[in-house]
Amino acid sequence: DQGERMEEEKRVKRRIVLVPVPAQGHVTPIMQLGKALHSKDFSITVVQTQYNRVTSSKDFSDFHFLTIPGSLTESDLKNLGPLQFMMKLNQICEATFKQCLGQLLKEQGDHDEVVCVVYDEYMHFSKAAAMEFQLPSVVFSTTSATAFLCRSVLAKVNVEKFLIDMKDVEMQDKLFPGLHPLRYKDLPTSAFGPIESMLRVYSKTVNTGTASAVIINSASCLESSSLARLQQELQVPVYPIGPLHIAASAPSSLLEEDRSCIEWLNMQKPRSVMYISLGSLALMETKDAVEMAWGLSNSNQPFLWVIRPGSIPSSEWTESLPEEFSKLVSERGYIVKWAPQMEVLRHPAVGGFWSHCGWNSTLESIGEGIPMICRPFTGDQKVNARYLERAWRNGVQLEGELEKEAVERAVKRLLVDEEGAEMRKSVVDLKEKLEASVRSGGSSCSSLDNFVNSLKTKNF
Ligand code: UDP
Repeated sequence: DQGERMEEEKRVKRRIVLVPVPAQGHVTPIMQLGKALHSKDFSITVVQTQYNRVTSSKDFSDFHFLTIPGSLTESDLKNLGPLQFMMKLNQICEATFKQCLGQLLKEQGDHDEVVCVVYDEYMHFSKAAAMEFQLPSVVFSTTSATAFLCRSVLAKVNVEKFLIDMKDVEMQDKLFPGLHPLRYKDLPTSAFGPIESMLRVYSKTVNTGTASAVIINSASCLESSSLARLQQELQVPVYPIGPLHIAASAPSSLLEEDRSCIEWLNMQKPRSVMYISLGSLALMETKDAVEMAWGLSNSNQPFLWVIRPGSIPSSEWTESLPEEFSKLVSERGYIVKWAPQMEVLRHPAVGGFWSHCGWNSTLESIGEGIPMICRPFTGDQKVNARYLERAWRNGVQLEGELEKEAVERAVKRLLVDEEGAEMRKSVVDLKEKLEASVRSGGSSCSSLDNFVNSLKTKNF
């Protein structure tokens, strides 16, 4: 009878298969998504490639981890840029993932049922396997809704005309039709490859095709109009359920965090420190590093700077930078190779965040009420930087050649001037809205519940 059937339903554990892109900025939010779904009573299997794997830890003790083999050589790993790496991964993983999913389904017992594959937008090989086994597949986007919308618009442009427009210097500062306040130069066109290749990749990623839904790590209080437009563009439901780092904490750093910087922060005055980090992939030229060091030093504010080994290509770490660099840094600065970023942003001594504006860093900074200096490098970072400055009004964008005077001015605007206090007010306001959106009754919380209900009622 019905009661018995309901009891039986309860005993069957629904399992979700997650497929992350093997890069920090993608691993972090998909593991948080895993935590959020786990708290809604799903079992989680993470299927990873051999590269940049998350290891099972006490935070994920209930998760099941599987690895699919890849066939990239050492030289591929060294020489392929991120874009080519992703293209290659999509070629080599389709068959192995199918095999892996097939095996998982064969082994599932009566009380454990795979109900869905949630794959990172850039791991689009996953949908073929899901389709073969008639499982719903869901796209997870780790960028903002606005950046997704841009990709969707770019996937449909007239390529020839667009390439001509993008070569026109005067066009660069013009607003792109329909994407206010974004200019041509803010579009995510140049992530690690020529525009033509990016457009080709976008036509694959935004083509949700056979997918059942799209999950976005954002909230309607940040980008309501982009979300509404995206929902019109896509044929499937869009669920904005972020920011996931507030909704579900899941520490998944792929590099070792240097916690000594927290002791250093403990010695600094409240809100006096500029924290500088360019995320896990962005590179920087030696001359820019030196201009930054000059500007930071001249601002007279203390600074904590994350310099990843290899991120200044001319140097292993900081050894071969000009001597003046270490002199400038030694007085008021502290350098680490990788920081516990959330803990740093939460520290009372931190007053500003100089960032490349990756989406995770952007959400984390807003989530801690920290205004930003925006120096995007590529891709969707330019979209985020423009929104920080023009839509949310809690960022100062540094454009063009990096010069010490401009650096000094930007640091003072944020940490010393009245303008910085104004920006702080607007970011704290946004922080409160973000917190409300993931609380019970908030928009992201309801959106997650709607997604979960659709899965549980097999509504996809
Ligand atoms: N991060 C960190 N320590 C660092 C620098 C970065 O833990 O020293 C984390 C940061 O908190 C964020 C992620 O790495 O969650 C970077 O993601 P983001 O989207 O900002 O940039 P990406 O690395 O993808 O360019």
